Amino acid sequence: MTPRDDSSPAPAPAVSRRIAGLMPGGSDGWEVLYRAREMKAAGRPVLNLAVGDHDLRTPDLLLDAMDRSARGGNTGYAPVPGSAALRAAIAARVEARTGVPTAPGNVLVTTGGQAALFAAVMAATDPGDGVITLDPYYASYPPTVLAASARNIVIETRPGDGFRPVRAALDAAGPARALLINTPNNPTGAVYDRATLQMVVEFCRDRGLWLISDEVYAGQVWDGEHLSPRALPGMAERCLVIGSLSKSHRMTGARLGWLVGPAGLIAQAIGLSNATTYGVPGFIQDAAIVALTDGDGIEAEVAALYRARRAAVLEALQGENRVRPVGGAGGMYVMLDARAAGLPGPVLAMRLLEERGIAAMPGESFGRAAAGHLRVALTLPEDQLVTAVRGIADFIGGLS
Ligand code: PLP
Repeated sequence: MTPRDDSSPAPAPAVSRRIAGLMPGGSDGWEVLYRAREMKAAGRPVLNLAVGDHDLRTPDLLLDAMDRSARGGNTGYAPVPGSAALRAAIAARVEARTGVPTAPGNVLVTTGGQAALFAAVMAATDPGDGVITLDPYYASYPPTVLAASARNIVIETRPGDGFRPVRAALDAAGPARALLINTPNNPTGAVYDRATLQMVVEFCRDRGLWLISDEVYAGQVWDGEHLSPRALPGMAERCLVIGSLSKSHRMTGARLGWLVGPAGLIAQAIGLSNATTYGVPGFIQDAAIVALTDGDGIEAEVAALYRARRAAVLEALQGENRVRPVGGAGGMYVMLDARAAGLPGPVLAMRLLEERGIAAMPGESFGRAAAGHLRVALTLPEDQLVTAVRGIADFIGGLS
């Protein structure tokens, strides 16, 4: 036995491969946003269209509800699966909007839609199982799948198909346990029509897959309508729906979301909340009840704002050939085809930021299918948004 040399302590234990793999190379794809924040902090003017967060704060009605609840004493541990009243309010909303019978036992309240996504992947997969995701995807999907020790199977959707999946592409996916879809879609704004959802549902049935349906933008559809695949025949037993108040009620910071699924799965998923967050703060849950029972006006107002901003962006870019809006039937974003710039998206986005003070996310942050595109979040007042998208077109024009 070699005696221990105290002057050279043993190296620290290694960080797990699971955690180390979540941000390969220390990058999480949000460099443009971080740089925009740095520039702003240094006093440089920036039009920030990089992140899907509201420019307006949470409405007073909901802040007052949080304050009343907290000051009324609801500051201790709250029911981990969600309070009975909140689970009932979410179930009632889902049932009213989809027609699918939904009970409080079908609902798990989570810290934002993000924790519901993680719970869904954890509940649907065992370590090493495949989850099919559709590129372009919400940037958090790949790490969410990896964090659950599952495997990403990425299938590209194409601009020519309106960024909707087609069966032949899905059929090419290897063995999997779940398919993850998102309609209305971040980043493309695609809204899946009935035929697409029917195809998706048949695919899941044929392959025996869970369908994880991320519907956090359900209330923000500008063309067509939102359909939840859980409402299609036989799907209530194999569909896991992600919902959230973040986008609909300007409650991003409150972290209030939910998972809706079969009661048996939800009952077991409570164990994950016990092991991680130990529930959502009670005063946030109380404000969520107010949002769901008395907040339809807020939801309509938020949606109307984004509808108007999107229309202003489309109008500002009409006849424009240096950038072209693609997709964009719903959600808080417009995707711009910026391939005329002849630059990789990350290079274009960083130059646009440094040289023009306009922050937009490169399509490459959302996979490969939207390479050379820019995602613009509609999170500035209309006049600034119009200035920004015209600035993007002008910048690209100056490159060629
Ligand atoms: N799903 C999609 C598609 C999103 O765009 C977001 C946030 O941007 C989320 C889920 C998570 O939202 P939250 O955790 O705030 O509910």
